[in-house]
Amino acid sequence: MMTIDLSNKDGIHQAIKGAFKYLKPPPKRLPSEWAEEKCRIPSGNAIPGPVRFANAPYQVEPLNMTVHPDCYRISLMWGAQTGKSQTQLMSIGFFIDQEPSSQMVMQPTQTDMSVWLNAKFEPMITSTPSLEDKVAKARAREGVNNQNMKSYPGGFLMFAWAGSPSTQRGRSAPKIFPDEIDGYTKTAEGYSVDLLWQRAATFGDQRLLFESSTPTIKGNSNIENAFEAGDQRRWFIDCPDCGESQFLKWSQVTWQKADDGEHLPETAMYCCEHCAALWNDGARHKAIRLGRWIAEKPFRGHASYHLPELASTFRKLKDIVISFLEKKASGDLQTFTNVSLAETWALEGEKQDPDSLYARREHYSAEVPSGAYVVTAAVDVQDDRLEIQYEAWGEGEENWKVAFDVLRGDLNKPEIWKRLDAALDRKFKHETGLMLDIAGTTIDTGGHYTQAVYDYVKRRGYGVFAIKGSSSQDAPIVNRPTKSNLGKVNLFSLGVHKIKATIMQRSRILETGYGYVHFPISEEFDREWFDQYTAEELVTKYVKGIRKEVWNKTRPRNEAFDLSGYNYACLRILNPDFKQLKREFEQRQFSKNTPDKPKKPQQPSGSWVNTGGSWL
Ligand SMILES: [Zn+2]
Repeated sequence: MMTIDLSNKDGIHQAIKGAFKYLKPPPKRLPSEWAEEKCRIPSGNAIPGPVRFANAPYQVEPLNMTVHPDCYRISLMWGAQTGKSQTQLMSIGFFIDQEPSSQMVMQPTQTDMSVWLNAKFEPMITSTPSLEDKVAKARAREGVNNQNMKSYPGGFLMFAWAGSPSTQRGRSAPKIFPDEIDGYTKTAEGYSVDLLWQRAATFGDQRLLFESSTPTIKGNSNIENAFEAGDQRRWFIDCPDCGESQFLKWSQVTWQKADDGEHLPETAMYCCEHCAALWNDGARHKAIRLGRWIAEKPFRGHASYHLPELASTFRKLKDIVISFLEKKASGDLQTFTNVSLAETWALEGEKQDPDSLYARREHYSAEVPSGAYVVTAAVDVQDDRLEIQYEAWGEGEENWKVAFDVLRGDLNKPEIWKRLDAALDRKFKHETGLMLDIAGTTIDTGGHYTQAVYDYVKRRGYGVFAIKGSSSQDAPIVNRPTKSNLGKVNLFSLGVHKIKATIMQRSRILETGYGYVHFPISEEFDREWFDQYTAEELVTKYVKGIRKEVWNKTRPRNEAFDLSGYNYACLRILNPDFKQLKREFEQRQFSKNTPDKPKKPQQPSGSWVNTGGSWL
């Protein structure tokens, strides 16, 4: 392990000013000195008023690395309550006020950008007089101030969002600040941060990339890739008892349970990994204030930082434990891992357990229980049969597996396709008594009967969607359809990796409601179905030295898992408005249950269908 002597503000002061000695004159002030002198934290934050790094000492070094002559890239993989946005903001302020330079800020979406502008950037500007004077006022005669760009003497601050290549085209700046980069999806043109960086090449050694994010899925995380590419710094603190140095780890957090098994978060303590001394919040916070960054690898221009919420002096251990217990109860430990620990969530090696899913089957009160408003179907095309799975969906994508059917026959002959017509014209009885049509069906074109499937989709017309899987790990769950195929039909490309990861994650949710999956007690959903549903696991492989996450079949048949993915894709294609559907169901049920009212004209048929279709 290599130690860099940038241990505290004075340390980095020396190191940074020293680094300038032979290159160019050092800045008049370091960004951290400028921030304490000029910057104010707007009200509404934990500690409003002048910036003081005593409670967030870990912000000093990355902030000052922005002017280190050998540093071109800074990556923050930080958790909640650590101030990673604030650290980026102070750097931006420094390059407005002290060393004017053009800058580009990037957010995942336009909405994220306006939230950032209104909730973070504008309050900092208006509470910091030296910045307010410089950033052009809206409608001022000189300068620009709008949702795309703001000007100040000596530069422009430009805004772009990753989902929109048009906001990036033809614009570049030497200082680049991408925020929440794990929310960026790759566009046809590539990964936005790479594109911005390439475009900034003309600025030479003025170039600086300062990115930040909480991480997401292991193997598919931009910020973790960035952290691993850098020198991997962690905040080391000394044990108040034994004096040994260590960085904070969740595995060292401990708390008691009552005799009845109830957790007691208020007893939470941090346990020293060397001497097992227990630290309370006071001892932990004091040690954090005296901490320092230590890198695991040599510095070669890219400083990367990992910091969990445990290292925040604004959080009590009790509250972090409560958050852990809540997320665990709702089957969403991924959020805790990503947001609090600032670590990626590993899907690898996690196999779903067919026994526990089989054990939670339930009796439905109707074919489609209340709470579900949309029925989808999916067809898997095998050489000697078609397999059809029917599912229902409610608010928050709560999911009910409804029915399963197999049609055997010769796929070259029309007979089996006629039987498929009947299967897709099937109606389902809702708990309210309404009869529901299938709102949409996805059918796989990937087998040996692609042309037959195209013909069928063309004949059926709207409501049957041809699909094919995309092997790219970054592919979105469903892409816009293209017609460039032999059948000239709308063909939807599915992001198989994301769909499978979603299905697996949803199966772990234990509370009904958002994302929960219901399984019926029915002969169609037998033990074999559950074995198929849990037939795949995610494993890590190294292909020519590069880490890859690969889905691995643990048994030959996995149609139930595939069909669940196709149904989920169908829901995303239909994109129904569940709030609207809920209102419609309530109205229909009301008019059905009140015979005293004058009779309204009846619907032409007892069934109806929601088409939602956002792309169709
Ligand atoms: Zn110790």
